[in-house]
Amino acid sequence: MARVHNWQIGREMSYWYPESRPSRQFAAIFDINKCIACQTCTLACKTTWTSGRGQEYMLWNNVESKPYGFYPLAWDLKLLKELGPQEWKEGTYEGRTIFEAARPGERALGWRPDDIDYANPNVGEDDCVGQVENGAGLEVPHLNWFFYLARICNHCTYPACLASCPRGSIYKRPEDGIVLVDQGRCRGYQECVKACPYKKVFFNPMTGTSEKCIACFPKFEQGLQPQCFVNCIGKIRMAGWISPPDKARPDNPIDYLVHIKKIAKPLFPQFGLEPNVYYIPPIHAPSSFLNQMFGPGTEAAIKAYRNADDDLAGLLALFGCTEKVMPRWKRQGDMVIAMEENGSEMLRVPMREPVHIRPAFDIRHGVTRTNCP
Ligand code: SF4
Ligand code: SF4
Repeated sequence: MARVHNWQIGREMSYWYPESRPSRQFAAIFDINKCIACQTCTLACKTTWTSGRGQEYMLWNNVESKPYGFYPLAWDLKLLKELGPQEWKEGTYEGRTIFEAARPGERALGWRPDDIDYANPNVGEDDCVGQVENGAGLEVPHLNWFFYLARICNHCTYPACLASCPRGSIYKRPEDGIVLVDQGRCRGYQECVKACPYKKVFFNPMTGTSEKCIACFPKFEQGLQPQCFVNCIGKIRMAGWISPPDKARPDNPIDYLVHIKKIAKPLFPQFGLEPNVYYIPPIHAPSSFLNQMFGPGTEAAIKAYRNADDDLAGLLALFGCTEKVMPRWKRQGDMVIAMEENGSEMLRVPMREPVHIRPAFDIRHGVTRTNCP
């Protein structure tokens, strides 16, 4: 095995191939606080890519309620239990990654779901922690909490699906870091299904091959964000490019949120894949739960999010504003500007939408507004 650097766990680790980062890496940020679980993203993906035979159960994008929702069933719990202690010390992960914990003869610690594990995509939906008594109201801080976790393939820097494939059918594109399954080479051994800890590869019994999220690469190649991003009702998503931490640019929106403000965190970084989808953690869930799910630093992330300065608040206002990928951004007074790579302006939005209060009686038309008290 090669030794590679994984900045998310703050150390070197073992991986099956030498470190070979793409020239640019696709990345995404999801603001959990804004997701309403409308599943529009799920349907946008489903109708675009997985409406064929053998794809009925596939959800390349899914949204589950945490802590009791899963797709497939218990995808995270099973692995967390098998992985053993997952201690962090000053930003360095001291436990084992799934590559370091692999059983003899296997490339990653994993498991293959049964068909029944895919039977209930919305299991646990809206189930909160603790019991809500009849007639109870909301209490702050939230004693009864849950949150929505939207998930796609993480287009990992060290993909377990790729490492485990005995046919070499899975590849990471050098130009954008998107991870794809070569449908011509795949023989359906399903080692990738077993190895991906996020369970984001799906076996198609009709074609006999494995399939997965392709980050809508035909769109992304044209500078457009994927379907699940542009259709997101809550405007929780932003797709773009991420730099390694030592090359972070403040005018790159993804770099700014992940590396500079550090408010967007990877999903289960302790697995060791350096996933490239980042989450702004929910402000109302307990930090013990969040630190296990997103690694250390979630309290600081939530504090920075709650006390967002003008730059941060401005950048958050750019989420969901255009179908285009926004490689650069800047704030100018109370306007936030999305820019092309060369600095030319793409669009501008106000940091705060103006509020118009209409008088109850409209003198010009001589009418009383029915939506006014
Ligand atoms: S999330 Fe799973 S399917 Fe996607 S690149 Fe990582 S290991 Fe592969
Ligand atoms: S479309 Fe957006 S708001 Fe709706 S479930 Fe998906 S991620 Fe959440």
